[in-house]
Amino acid sequence: MTDHPRIPLAGVIGHPIAHSRSPALHGYWLQRYGIKGHYVPLDVAPADLAHVLQTLPLMGFVGVNITIPHKEAILQIADVVTDRAALIGAANTLIFRKDGRIQADNTDGAGLIANLRQNAPHWQPGSGPAVVFGAGGAARATVAALIEVGVPEISIANRTRPRAEALRSDFGAKVIVSEWVQAANMLDGATTVVNTTSLGMTGKPEFRVPLDGLNPRAVVTDLVYTPLMTQFLIEAQAKGCTIVDGLGMLLHQAAPGFERWFGQRPQVDDATRRAVLSA
Ligand code: NAP
Repeated sequence: MTDHPRIPLAGVIGHPIAHSRSPALHGYWLQRYGIKGHYVPLDVAPADLAHVLQTLPLMGFVGVNITIPHKEAILQIADVVTDRAALIGAANTLIFRKDGRIQADNTDGAGLIANLRQNAPHWQPGSGPAVVFGAGGAARATVAALIEVGVPEISIANRTRPRAEALRSDFGAKVIVSEWVQAANMLDGATTVVNTTSLGMTGKPEFRVPLDGLNPRAVVTDLVYTPLMTQFLIEAQAKGCTIVDGLGMLLHQAAPGFERWFGQRPQVDDATRRAVLSA
């Protein structure tokens, strides 16, 4: 009997999903490394998510990325949730294991740190306090990752204060909560500054917290990557700060999933950026 090895399939599940850049990214890597595999966008309504996830492995899927609006709900469906995903309260990467179990992980924080290390090589997380604007899902991944790499203290401000308070109670005394209207006061002395709000994204209101207090030594990054150069980054650059755009985080958070599914650690480099930006 001839052995027919299955072509590995992966994809990204969201609702809607047409805007996702993940298919272009993974498609580029598959082609670059000559891997026989496919990565497809999957538009799945919340009510169908559990059922779809049961059937995907039967079709040859080895895993998927999970995006809005499923990132939190997936934790109730997965069989195994990594400590990191449980702490963050959301997952973005699923592995369909050989034992039939679905494992959920969150790679956003690792993507943030890899992006900072690659594009601000002098960045020293322990060199001073951090400021995080926002307290949504991306902020939770950001705070978890910053604590893990040794940031001594993180000041957070969010429009809806109870969401920021929840971060403090989940992540502990290193987290300090400020009022959103006083967010600018947090900047004094900060050496890492992260915008995790959706402000500044194409189609959303502009980020308006005054950045006068920014220390020029600070490394400043925006999770928003459409546009690549947000007003937040433009102002930080004008202050003399090292700035890192959010596209690199998107690329880096995708790498662990690609490696698990297709057996090759992909490079995140200029060619990868160009491939995604031109798609
Ligand atoms: P989310 O859970 O919906 O959180 C949105 C955040 O933005 C909350 O803190 C929210 O404050 C704040 N916000 C929204 N509108 C606001 C307004 N008008 N004024 C003040 N604050 C406002 O979303 P998320 O998943 O954390 O994502 C946040 C951003 O990060 C998005 O732009 C997303 O595309 C980006 N992201 C990028 C990457 C990457 O790889 N680069 C990865 C993940 C996320 P409230 O709590 O008051 O609503």
